[in-house]
Amino acid sequence: MLTRLVGGRVIDPGNGRDAVRDVFIRDGRIVDARPGVTADETYNVSNKIVMAGGIDIHSHIAGNNETMGRLLLPEQRYPSEFPHPGHYPQPRGAWNTFETGCLYAAMGFTTVVEPAVLPHHALQAHLELADIPIIDKATLTVLGNDDFLLDLLHRREGANAIRGYVAWTLASSRGLGIKVINAGGAAAFKDNVRTFALDDEVPGYGVSSRAIVKALQLAVHELQLPHPLHVHCNNLGIPGNVETALATIAAAEGLPLHLAHLQFYGYGKEGPRGFSSGGARLAEAVNAAKSVTVDVGQVMFGQTVTISCDVLRQFNARNGARPKKWMIYDGDSNGAGIVPYDYRVTDFFNAVQWAVGLELFLLTNDPWRVFFTTDHPNGAPFTAYPEIIALLMDRDLRAEWMSRLPKEALAVTTLASITREHTLTDIAIMTRAAPAKLLGLKDRGHLGAGALADIAVYEPGDNRTKMFREAALVFKGGQLVVRDGAVLDHPFGRTFRSQPDYERAINARMRDYYEERYGISPDLMTVSDAAIGRPEPFEIVPCLN
Ligand SMILES: [Zn+2]
Repeated sequence: MLTRLVGGRVIDPGNGRDAVRDVFIRDGRIVDARPGVTADETYNVSNKIVMAGGIDIHSHIAGNNETMGRLLLPEQRYPSEFPHPGHYPQPRGAWNTFETGCLYAAMGFTTVVEPAVLPHHALQAHLELADIPIIDKATLTVLGNDDFLLDLLHRREGANAIRGYVAWTLASSRGLGIKVINAGGAAAFKDNVRTFALDDEVPGYGVSSRAIVKALQLAVHELQLPHPLHVHCNNLGIPGNVETALATIAAAEGLPLHLAHLQFYGYGKEGPRGFSSGGARLAEAVNAAKSVTVDVGQVMFGQTVTISCDVLRQFNARNGARPKKWMIYDGDSNGAGIVPYDYRVTDFFNAVQWAVGLELFLLTNDPWRVFFTTDHPNGAPFTAYPEIIALLMDRDLRAEWMSRLPKEALAVTTLASITREHTLTDIAIMTRAAPAKLLGLKDRGHLGAGALADIAVYEPGDNRTKMFREAALVFKGGQLVVRDGAVLDHPFGRTFRSQPDYERAINARMRDYYEERYGISPDLMTVSDAAIGRPEPFEIVPCLN
């Protein structure tokens, strides 16, 4: 069957196009128009904006932490129209799997990466991901605080052993790429360490955070994984941590490196409160470091919950919980913490955080290297994306918001002086074309012939928040799934993984290690197709070459 979308303005930066043209779909893929061929089905999208389906590279939507968050904060699920005494306002970020898929699809997003799956929790994460409808998914596997890797580094076993271990872990956890979260910091936390910087060493192993990051960066690069090492730096949230982020950017040394939710590292110590924006300095460093990509982790005002495998950070943040309850667990590698938080427009620190995120978006010159995230749900739920797009595209709207913030907060940022307004092409790059490139997904993020027919159609208007919250039409693999922001159908997508080559000698070694250390077989932790219970649940993304 041939489907034709007629007369829309097609914004397709992946193919260098922004023009009024028709888009044709056959068998779930975009095809070139052949003269004289009559479409079986036609949609009139004239005066509308047509983009590829959105891709989110960093959103915590499944796994152990999300489950813990739901268990800790059931009251956040109470519908706001039925307020209950003692319960907190509106459900924000505590959606179930079904709602997650529908809310993303309604905004025109069709692929989402869950970026923090601990290897031993991978099965649960994949079961939960498989239950999220419409969108395709991928996971990043977390290494960098695990005994096996730290011991390899301690023994100076060399790059070959580390590559084998990384590839083995990816295979058993079915990840697309590797993430490191406060490298060594969570391991040091087990020894009661409470602050941990890039050149600090993990007690007992004598290995620095920098050495862990460099070893993983090199392994990921040499295995030619489709996504570079994804780094959550040390010192998240701490005044003065801009220095940590700058040092980490410098440590990339020309090899690919992705820094996650950079906003949370954009803090100086200037000003009367000892807290200021380092956003401009960070953006300048990112502009200069061409091998580095970043996502923002924008903060938006309102109730949310922070969930993170940075157990050291979450432990230190527990007393700031709003409402006053939290959960910290430790033990296996990273551990994690769940700390609810309410970002307030009247709060000096929260206002600075909001401004830092916008500075990073607006002062990073190349939209191909800065990605659209709120670190859902840590900075805000992903449903805030349309509001962020509106802020980036309209300096008057930013000025309106700035007038509501504490003046002393704005005084320690450069936001008021920034006049840049993002174009629709910038938005399409940051949310479509660039993420597809960064994840190695060649057949999405663009609308050229052969691409998967993941397509979002938007009704342009002055209210950009509404425009991007309620897509006019969304096609997933050629199937119409959303009309006027309402979900029509919810087919299940797939999960991307990578499968690098490695020397199989590591298999026996891992079996011995698990049996000696834990008294179990590593098979208990391994994710299989059969566990998901759906035909072909995984799709392999080729390694780079
Ligand atoms: Zn995150």
